Amino acid sequence: MAKDRSFATKTAKAEGGKDSCPVCGDAYAYLRHISTAKSAKTDAWKANRKMVRVCGCNQKEIYG
Ligand SMILES: [Zn+2]
Repeated sequence: MAKDRSFATKTAKAEGGKDSCPVCGDAYAYLRHISTAKSAKTDAWKANRKMVRVCGCNQKEIYG
């Protein structure tokens, strides 16, 4: 049945979108980690932004 199928797809999508660590089961917290680096060419500081996923496995490393 088409209705059943669409419902199943929705459910699967919702579960797939849940971002949690397969190791500790914690939901990931996203942290914007900004590090600054000086460019050798232009002699200007630039910020490198990257998203870091934090869960029970690495929160000690991240938060100290
Ligand atoms: Zn984890």
